[in-house]
Amino acid sequence: MNFPSSVIYIIPILAVWSGFAFVWFTKPNHTDNIKLLLAFSGAFLLSLTFFELLPDVYEGHDPKKIALYILGGILLQVFLEFFSKGAEHGHMHVHLEENKFPTLLFLSLCIHALVEGVPIHENDSILYAIIIHKIPIAIILSIFLINSTLKFSTTLLFIGLFSLMTPLGSYFSTTPLLTDYGYLLTSISIGVFFHISTIILFESAQGHAFNLRKLVVIILGIGIAYLV
Ligand SMILES: [Zn+2]
Ligand SMILES: [Zn+2]
Repeated sequence: MNFPSSVIYIIPILAVWSGFAFVWFTKPNHTDNIKLLLAFSGAFLLSLTFFELLPDVYEGHDPKKIALYILGGILLQVFLEFFSKGAEHGHMHVHLEENKFPTLLFLSLCIHALVEGVPIHENDSILYAIIIHKIPIAIILSIFLINSTLKFSTTLLFIGLFSLMTPLGSYFSTTPLLTDYGYLLTSISIGVFFHISTIILFESAQGHAFNLRKLVVIILGIGIAYLV
């Protein structure tokens, strides 16, 4: 299936805002179901990376070069998490100063979301993975921001700008300057996806206790990725 480009730009914005609206209207106070959704999104994103993105970037290109860019993507994400403290995989450990805009958290999340937008225009099924990844992340981020000392207008600005980053990444990757490097940019995104999705799966197994519901959603994530 081929989505029109307007859909590619609008859907990721809606995903972020629907996460925010969900928190604003329902004020969720237990996050068990969000964690299940997070585990599903990790499995789904990882599977689609294997099924769709990896074979594409290796085709007709020097495997060693591709591998370097993928590893570069992993490193980029490791670096970003020094500043975001894991917000892009559903972890909120940032301590906010009173009424001060969390610039480092914001910038690291924005760079992450920009990179995420790159493979979308080439690969429609990755759009599903990004949406399903963005909703629980937006929910967790919104719970954090709404409960912080930030002004509501600042929270809206944060969410608003953040929601634009993935479409911007998709847009930049189609500009003539960058299209020739599309497969390399996608390789960097693959590294980012590897890192966040494996961390989501790793962290969702709390204390490595057996959790049937989590196992089921992870298998579902893999199964559905196989079918789309
Ligand atoms: Zn974490
Ligand atoms: Zn992300």
